[in-house]
Amino acid sequence: MKIAVIGTGYVGLVTGVCLAETGNRVICVDKDNEKLERFRKGDPVIYEKNLAELLNHNLQKSRIEFTNDLKYAVENSEIIFFCLPTPQGDDGAADLKHVLEVAEQCGEILSQIKDKTYKIFVNKSTVPVGTAELVRQKIQSKAGDFPFDVVSNPEFLREGFAVEDFMKPDRIVIGISSEKAKELMKTLYEPFVRSGNPIYFMDEKSAEVTKYAANCFLATKITFMNEIANYCETVGANVDMVRIAMGADNRIGKRFLFPGIGFGGSCFPKDIKALQKSFKEANVESNVIDAVIETNEKQKLVLINKILKHFNQDIRGKRFALWGLAFKPETDDVREAPAFKIIDKILELGGKIVAYDPEAIENTKKVYGDKIEYAQDALSACKDADALIIATEWNEFRTPDFETMKNLMKEFVIFDGRNVFDNEKALKHKFVYYSIGRKPVLKEDLER
Ligand code: NAD
Repeated sequence: MKIAVIGTGYVGLVTGVCLAETGNRVICVDKDNEKLERFRKGDPVIYEKNLAELLNHNLQKSRIEFTNDLKYAVENSEIIFFCLPTPQGDDGAADLKHVLEVAEQCGEILSQIKDKTYKIFVNKSTVPVGTAELVRQKIQSKAGDFPFDVVSNPEFLREGFAVEDFMKPDRIVIGISSEKAKELMKTLYEPFVRSGNPIYFMDEKSAEVTKYAANCFLATKITFMNEIANYCETVGANVDMVRIAMGADNRIGKRFLFPGIGFGGSCFPKDIKALQKSFKEANVESNVIDAVIETNEKQKLVLINKILKHFNQDIRGKRFALWGLAFKPETDDVREAPAFKIIDKILELGGKIVAYDPEAIENTKKVYGDKIEYAQDALSACKDADALIIATEWNEFRTPDFETMKNLMKEFVIFDGRNVFDNEKALKHKFVYYSIGRKPVLKEDLER
């Protein structure tokens, strides 16, 4: 099939490359010319497992091309995907300006095409209920009698596993009201569901709500566990035990039960606020959603509170090694990263940061420049540090050389926001150790 993908960020590039991999001819459109140049050379710009290999493979096969020419892409494609940003607007709602602008431009382009062969516009961006209809109206307002349909196809891929998730999705959700579009979408997606995972066809509104409901449910699960962790800590229980025993119940499940320093990233924070706003607009109470947003903001500061208590409320001049900048492991994405909240607070309180992350340093430099220092590896971040803070649970942090760390650090203190280590390890290597939802290991515990 002939496909166009408009917006080649995390979702668009993965969509384009994976659709090319199954034999389609894909034209990817972006307005960022620097990125386009790098894509053409086989550099995916973002860090995502297997993406570079697949991009290069499909460039070699001439199945994928990159352009800033929207007209060329729309004219030469039968299915056009929108993978455009829907950032949080000033009032919390998803800002649809990119999506609606492109929809209008597409309508304009359709009005100039002589060959009126049917096209489908597929929205993959996360958008509030009713957007498919808005997009249809925008295109229609310019397109005259050009035959087209609009489909809502929310994306569920996880950064870090994006290629795997796209190639083998748990499910595909398609909001659709036309039989013709349904058949074409089915054909396009068949190679991805060969193992029997379902494609759910539904109305557009239900598809749009499904995406927000799924993300907000996961955000709620994390937040609930964070609250349980804080409670465990206060009453002397161990959240690890609670988590494992809770997760053994199939109705609950093992995933998304890990407590930490709050959820971040490019999706959960903006999506939950957008859903909250949509509830308000619909005059529906959003008590659970409101509480999740408020609790998550507080959770981002739990480690800072522990740090301040440990240093008697004064961290001026203290030097902190910070492991992990990306909002989660296996990605270079730092949007709404909890690590940034910690950096901001420590700088505000007069402390210093030496940061390390396996993939996210370049993106962090764009935000902090020389306000913080950057280390080449995890160990060298520890040089002369008064404490180590862990903000992202990259696997390479799990078994560090504690003895070398002790030779480098001024004080042997760890603030672990992701429970990467446990108390036994801290006791064995004689580190004061604070984590989430577990008793701290204090100086007096080490002297016993
Ligand atoms: P992104 O910011 O990484 O990428 C968006 C791309 O669109 C950028 O490359 C930008 O240059 C381009 N762009 C913006 N305006 C354009 C225009 N007028 N014409 C052409 N290109 C344009 O965003 P993303 O993370 O890929 O997210 C895209 C959408 O998918 C959002 O709605 C997001 O909520 C949703 N989503 C994201 C994820 C994720 O994990 N990142 C997962 C599921 C859904």
